[in-house]
Amino acid sequence: MLVNLKTVLYDAKEKKYGVPAANVWNEGTVKAAIATAEKYRSPIILALYPAMADILEFGPVAVRHAMRSSVPVVVHLDHGQEFSDAIKAVRAGFTSIMVDRSTCPYEQNVAEVKEIVKIAHAIDISVEAELGHVGKGCDYEKIKNEGLTDLAEAQSFVRETGIDCLAVAVGTSHGLYSGIPEIQFERLDRLNQAIAIPLVLHGCSGTGDENLKKAIQFGITKLNLYTDLDRAGCALLDRYCSRKKIANMMEAETAILEGYAQKLRYYIELFGSMKRV
Ligand SMILES: [Zn+2]
Repeated sequence: MLVNLKTVLYDAKEKKYGVPAANVWNEGTVKAAIATAEKYRSPIILALYPAMADILEFGPVAVRHAMRSSVPVVVHLDHGQEFSDAIKAVRAGFTSIMVDRSTCPYEQNVAEVKEIVKIAHAIDISVEAELGHVGKGCDYEKIKNEGLTDLAEAQSFVRETGIDCLAVAVGTSHGLYSGIPEIQFERLDRLNQAIAIPLVLHGCSGTGDENLKKAIQFGITKLNLYTDLDRAGCALLDRYCSRKKIANMMEAETAILEGYAQKLRYYIELFGSMKRV
């Protein structure tokens, strides 16, 4: 069933588990993600990033699959950086929008997020926004202590914008890390104590199982995954290729999606979202 983000994350917050937000970019990844969630009875968030998937063309395909699913599925705009991204997501039937203005000054971030919240809430769409900035893993050694979420600012940001969940910068990074991830659990704990809405962690790939499990205990409810799913798909294809010659593209695609699904299953178990629905 197609649901909004609030429905899924408030249950996760209450029961202290995490819901995977898996990037999808074609029908194969949508079907693999939903089938895995159904098999292990987990809610799932399908994250569509405008640079990877055409929101207007492909979004409705994801929405149709979500509607037919036997588990709660959120169709979510990942890192919508333009006003038009959010409007396209509304038109495509999404149930959740991330308004990412994390590189803008605070006042501009608040103003632009508020604008989308007003539109989205009128039609029961959830909104995620980011305060502080989760950067790129390739720069991690240089930037790991920059752009971290400030507690007082986060409290006023949540109050002023009326968002449904907050993406926090507490030491994770997008893509592959250069160096060892250092998560600021004290900062996360303080944010969690002070902020009533669910918290979101971007850049979970490569962050480490123990760090992610601990982050869930400290209030993280949505965990974004792309790189690890992508790497797992490529690794399984490599293994197939080392054993036998791939006969055709469909066989290659099947192997890639199997690797993607296996890794997603792994995280569903790690995050404790298995058998929740
Ligand atoms: Zn992200």
